[in-house]
Amino acid sequence: MINDANGSIAGAGALLSILRDGRARTRAELVQLTGLARSTLAQRLDALVTLQWIVPTEEAISSGGRPAIAFTFNRTARVVLAADLGATHARVAITDLGTAVLAERAIEMPIDLGPEETLGSLQHTFEDMLAESGYRLDQVCGVGVGLPGPVEYGSGRPVNPPIMPGWDGFPVPEWLGSRLGVPVLVDNDVNIMALGEHWAARPEADHLIFIKIGTGIGCGIISDRRLHRGAQGAAGDIGHIRVASGLDTVCRCGNLGCLEAVAGGAAMAARLRAEGVAAEDSRDVVGLVRVGNTQAVQLIRQAGREVGDVLASIVNFFNPAVIVVGGDISEAGEQVLAGLREVIYSRSLPLATQHLTITASELGDRAGMIGAAVMVIEHVLAPGSVDRSITTV
Ligand SMILES: [Zn+2]
Repeated sequence: MINDANGSIAGAGALLSILRDGRARTRAELVQLTGLARSTLAQRLDALVTLQWIVPTEEAISSGGRPAIAFTFNRTARVVLAADLGATHARVAITDLGTAVLAERAIEMPIDLGPEETLGSLQHTFEDMLAESGYRLDQVCGVGVGLPGPVEYGSGRPVNPPIMPGWDGFPVPEWLGSRLGVPVLVDNDVNIMALGEHWAARPEADHLIFIKIGTGIGCGIISDRRLHRGAQGAAGDIGHIRVASGLDTVCRCGNLGCLEAVAGGAAMAARLRAEGVAAEDSRDVVGLVRVGNTQAVQLIRQAGREVGDVLASIVNFFNPAVIVVGGDISEAGEQVLAGLREVIYSRSLPLATQHLTITASELGDRAGMIGAAVMVIEHVLAPGSVDRSITTV
């Protein structure tokens, strides 16, 4: 039993938070940093070493020239299973605790097959990948899943997801967790894309908006370095904000004039079809833009302006430092960013745009997968979770 009566191990999680930056630190450095008594520090370090959250190294040289033992975060202590499920495809990975990808697959997995078939297929994919790469289930600290629809984060259940028949209220964490024997966290795809992009590409940005323009439109909000989900997990659902130019267009949600019904990939594909151009989905739209189809180029620029119009208000309201644009349509690159920038810079207040960066996603179609891993890592390595893992040793 590592935990003792005076509860001094309770701070081990906080100590681990300091070491998570990857720098090796000696006992003396840690005493100085934390103000802890040497004996308390030793106890916490022992507990973290026992669980392999940290490892001792002998690389550091103390001031006396003698090698001193230093401690560093062990990103290979556990592995994470991460999945980003889209309408028809999934991207699945095993990562370490620093989101380094150890194994990865992009597979066909239609979400409209319903939860049991889709999640069953995901479970087998995870098991296959673990076996193939030589990891065991008991090394897995958690599973992160992103879904293409609204999710009540507290319960991990989808709520009236429009493109996911049969999924409404389905207990995803319980279903998958009971089969894999590890905790399962679920969120909507754009929230985890925001997490992934912030972690991997923009860690310095305290306030970031990740906007996904795909079949639908939504955004993930990083506020003060944390994901802002709102009261029910519905924050950032900007696809159904009304835009002036779309008042005669009916949205799939039943309302008139939603942003998504004007500027979403599905809407653009439908408009191209009406003009006699073959386009089924947002990928086709991007494909047409790439080969220089004039109608598609005009549509996508206009879509950029429409999205920019909504974002201009959000910039005034939220004052982000960075807006990252992702999703299928963002692969049209400058064609969509140009319209977006044009409207935001002309419509938002100068103070809010003075240092505003508007950029395409660096992670591209891997943002959600990396973000699903980040969601798990942040949960498992939160000081409270680490303390609890120690008391149960
Ligand atoms: Zn709508």
